[in-house]
Amino acid sequence: MDFQSFNFHPHIAAGVEAAGYVTPTPIQAQAIPPVMEGRDVMGLAQTGTGKTAAFVLPILQRLMHGGRGHVRALIVAPTRELAEQIHEAIGSLGKQARIRSVTVYGGVNVNPQVQKLKGGVEVVVACPGRLLDHIGQGTIDLAKLEVLVLDEADQMFDMGFLPDIKRILKHLPQKRQTLLFSATMPDDIKRLAHDILRDPVTVQVGSVAPPVTVTHAIYPVEQHLKTGLLLELLRHTDTESVLVFTRTKHRAKRLGEQLEKAGYKAASLQGNLSQNRRQAALDGFRDGTFQILVATDIAARGIDVSQVSHVINYDIPDTAEAYIHRIGRTGRAARSGDAFTMVTGEDALMVRTIERTLKAPLERRTVEGFDYSVPAPKKDTEFARPPMPPRRPAGEKKGGAQQKQATKPGAAKSKSSERQHQKDGLTAHTTGSPKQRGNHARRTS
Ligand code: AMP
Repeated sequence: MDFQSFNFHPHIAAGVEAAGYVTPTPIQAQAIPPVMEGRDVMGLAQTGTGKTAAFVLPILQRLMHGGRGHVRALIVAPTRELAEQIHEAIGSLGKQARIRSVTVYGGVNVNPQVQKLKGGVEVVVACPGRLLDHIGQGTIDLAKLEVLVLDEADQMFDMGFLPDIKRILKHLPQKRQTLLFSATMPDDIKRLAHDILRDPVTVQVGSVAPPVTVTHAIYPVEQHLKTGLLLELLRHTDTESVLVFTRTKHRAKRLGEQLEKAGYKAASLQGNLSQNRRQAALDGFRDGTFQILVATDIAARGIDVSQVSHVINYDIPDTAEAYIHRIGRTGRAARSGDAFTMVTGEDALMVRTIERTLKAPLERRTVEGFDYSVPAPKKDTEFARPPMPPRRPAGEKKGGAQQKQATKPGAAKSKSSERQHQKDGLTAHTTGSPKQRGNHARRTS
């Protein structure tokens, strides 16, 4: 199958060609035809499968016919990064088609959004909260909406956006096409799909299968040796661009600082920085200014870094789904990638869960020359013990809110910790200025 078989308008076909897409990915092959027929679609696919183009291309095709200058398609996404990525995809795939889209999310000045909406756009890519503000202020007109997309619906649910989604739905025309994409299908999403989709076509790709080009390995190590082992791993591995995951934003920040101190061009994505600094970290990672980005699951959500060569789990994730999601960022489209996970004795159960999901054992590796025998410091220095699940202060609701970090060592993981982490900071902190050092800079301290 190739893209010609969809019979896209020449302007859309030009966008596909300019993007360098030759063969549709499985989700595209399955979803594009029913979406072009105007059917409602439930798409089970995670980031990295090409799901964005699976809904963007048929929407662009629809917009080639009919009026311009009013909102005809609304795409709702959980994070600003994802919203920006979708907006960028529309911008590049719809360049010749001259389709105009705008992003609408909080944490930035509302006025430029109002101006763009006034100026006339066909597509709005929005996060729920700010979209509701615009609806409330009357600065967006959705009366002529034709297509609604809810992207990463499970994530929006996890972040507490479901009531907002329901409120948004009340302001949309009943007669519309609705597409719902989700990596997983928990009961709440099933209910939502049942309520809002009419006679939907369900398409599913590898919801629990990782990209085939990824090599997985685990590195058993004691908690207090993780940072040393990470530095050793980086020294011995030919890495282009590395995404490191930690369990808490505090650990992300500290580890980012330690990597920087060791001479790496590293940044961390976590709470307490402005949207501008966060964007600078993301842009810097994308353009290679930063070789290493340290992030929590939620802070990294939506990052599209197609060039990520290595995902390193400094802390193992809480669920097999989170593992698949993390490593979905490496080994994209025909590229190969490596996924390394540091595991301590207490991660044994999660390792088995991941192996069951992957239906394959994870290769155990040790780093030659690394001194695994260094004893744990007597005093509880940072990271000598496993991280404690972050605590949510009373009254906090959605992701992005400031959150106090519980940093006391010694506490065991709890089941609720993943949800808490997903509420972990949505803003960035770059650790110091980028240093102009090479890939294999040696430790300096
Ligand atoms: P997504 O799952 O939408 O985040 O897409 C993952 C990556 O795959 C993005 O970098 C896309 O540009 C890329 N991509 C999407 N469709 C194709 C395709 N048909 N061929 C090659 N790369 C693609």
